[in-house]
Amino acid sequence: MPVKRERFLRDFLELVQIPSPSGREGKVAQTVISRLTALGLSVAEDEAGKGFGGEQGNLFVTVPGTLDRPSLLLNAHLDTVVPCEGVHPIVEDDKVRSDGTTILGADNKAGVCVLVELLRVLQEDKVAHGPLEIVFTVGEETGLHGARHLDYQRLTAKVGFVFDSGPPVERVIVGAPSQKSLRAVVRGRAAHAGVSPEKGINAIVLASRAISRMPLGRIDHETTANIGVIRGGLATNIVPEEVILEGEARSHDPAKLERQVQTMVNLLRDESEIGGGRAEVMVWDVYRAFRIKESDLPCQVVRRALEQMGRTPQWEISGGGSDANIFNEHGIQTVILCCGEESPHSPVNERLDIPSALQSVELAKQIIVAFAQLTG
Ligand SMILES: [Zn+2]
Repeated sequence: MPVKRERFLRDFLELVQIPSPSGREGKVAQTVISRLTALGLSVAEDEAGKGFGGEQGNLFVTVPGTLDRPSLLLNAHLDTVVPCEGVHPIVEDDKVRSDGTTILGADNKAGVCVLVELLRVLQEDKVAHGPLEIVFTVGEETGLHGARHLDYQRLTAKVGFVFDSGPPVERVIVGAPSQKSLRAVVRGRAAHAGVSPEKGINAIVLASRAISRMPLGRIDHETTANIGVIRGGLATNIVPEEVILEGEARSHDPAKLERQVQTMVNLLRDESEIGGGRAEVMVWDVYRAFRIKESDLPCQVVRRALEQMGRTPQWEISGGGSDANIFNEHGIQTVILCCGEESPHSPVNERLDIPSALQSVELAKQIIVAFAQLTG
């Protein structure tokens, strides 16, 4: 077994066995910090945890450049989805999986390990590079909290790469949609369902009339919408007074997103009023869309890096948001790259593809070289 594969796997297997649900990344952060300090690097932490009730802030490793170049941001996130307690990783040939009762956590511990391994390789191979700003974020999975509450004063990079996507290594995510979320409280009037139902206004009925008229699911090639939560009612003998709905919409086109959300809001309000009730609807921006062009620096850098590996980029658009949306909002042009994770968020199907993860380390190294060349 080649040395680097063995070292990467040892790192990865240790990390996935440390539970790190969003907001509870303290223990895994300590392990990552000890690996980085073993390389002679110093690690700083911001206050992002406090911003969303988490125990841990984002970690920052600033590696001074051996070349006078602009800074480059590299990122992975420390948290995982649940269930992540008691992960038993199983290595089978080129794959790692869990025993099926928990997630594996390759999303995104594979990304974390890619960046730690990259730092080792840069030292061992004495790679000339500009200044690096490596950030390990927290709270990504439950709402991009770490990136949102990140102390951007600490960063000077205008170009970033997030290692949080699946193989093959030439896949590059260059765009993601905007998302808005919605929470509605539909109010009717409570009454005894057997004694005086005519005095009641059934909030569940009001809500269901609105939902039944709502365009949901895949609206068009770049727009989706969902009502994901409905909660209400107390007992079968009470006409329900209140029901709460939670939903979302996403689109690569901000105007379409606006229209979709407005349709959802209007239906909830109108159907509630027609039925004698009332709906209070709250809508908020979760993240904003981004689209990096092939002529933009991040794409030029990846293209050159992949060419060094004898590969050509596959540009792709994602259907979901990630820390990259937030970095782009903050003026850091960021794309998302492979870290070897497969089928994330699924206890049964999630895998680490070991060869892809090792190729991602090589890609990260080639990106640093290409960035220094293209900005020199
Ligand atoms: Zn992720």
